[in-house]
Amino acid sequence: MRAAIYNGPNRPISVENLPDPQPGPGELLVRVHRCGICGSDVAMTGAGPLYLPHGRFGHEWAGEVVEAGRDTSLPSGARIAGLPVAPCGACDGCATGNPLFCEVNGFLVGGFGEFMVVPEAAAICLPGSLSFADGALVEPMSCGLHALNFARMEPGSRVLVIGAGAMALSAIFWARRLGAGKIGVMSRSAHREESVMAMGADAMFGFDPDDQARIATVLDGAPEVVVECVGKPGMLELASQVVRARGTILSLGMCQHGDPVVPALMTHKEVRLLFPRGYTVAEFESTARALDRVDVDPAVMVSKVIGLDDLPDAMGQLRSGSRGSGKIHVDPWL
Ligand SMILES: [Zn+2]
Ligand SMILES: [Zn+2]
Repeated sequence: MRAAIYNGPNRPISVENLPDPQPGPGELLVRVHRCGICGSDVAMTGAGPLYLPHGRFGHEWAGEVVEAGRDTSLPSGARIAGLPVAPCGACDGCATGNPLFCEVNGFLVGGFGEFMVVPEAAAICLPGSLSFADGALVEPMSCGLHALNFARMEPGSRVLVIGAGAMALSAIFWARRLGAGKIGVMSRSAHREESVMAMGADAMFGFDPDDQARIATVLDGAPEVVVECVGKPGMLELASQVVRARGTILSLGMCQHGDPVVPALMTHKEVRLLFPRGYTVAEFESTARALDRVDVDPAVMVSKVIGLDDLPDAMGQLRSGSRGSGKIHVDPWL
């Protein structure tokens, strides 16, 4: 089988022939149909400061069970997506439904390959109407749900999303469905407006941090929740300027550099600055159900589908700062 391999920080991704994996007890052999490139795949194989372990990678996958090991219950042919960590069930993180904080099991990756072996404990069955392309969006879409739950956003809240990439779309989607009042989006990427509006935003405007009056006009007041999805230095300071007093800033941009804020100004406004990570099992499952019933086509998030052979180049371009125009999906069988 063929799979993409991460060879170390900033080294080119390679595509290699590997032995076909075999499922052990409690494991499933999955034929991967789609796997999305996540901002974290780019950040954690590039400049750091956090790095993936060397080897296979890709965690936003969906596929089909082709062989089930001993002590499993899912049949061949089951259509699944997966958590990026198999819950051990015993540690603090897993016991509270937060397997991303599992103290026993490591990160479960390998979506950029033809096949992968997955513990059944990490598998989530895809609802009927979801395609594999939709299924590979459950993981990134779950992050927006978790972020807004973490913020305890009240229905009717005014929300400002900074950025228009995949995380921003996820935040807009969930802000709308969790009952936000007005949702404004600040982004330089005018070509993303159609996707932004499809997800449920009320207005998108250019990047003009001085224009607080315009933000207030669009939202009918200063935003109670600001969701930072750009991840460049300066964005938290911008968010702190525009957020309403006693509002909440969500940092979702995963900035890899220092991004200073002025504590006195934050204190003056009594701002809550939060750094949500990932999602709970329940949030992952409710995202799959929501995408099944949804009135928007989640595929508007995906700008391009490429094969494994094009992944090294695509990763190289993203690492060198190319912003692209949306999420790239890999179909290992293209
Ligand atoms: Zn991801
Ligand atoms: Zn655990």
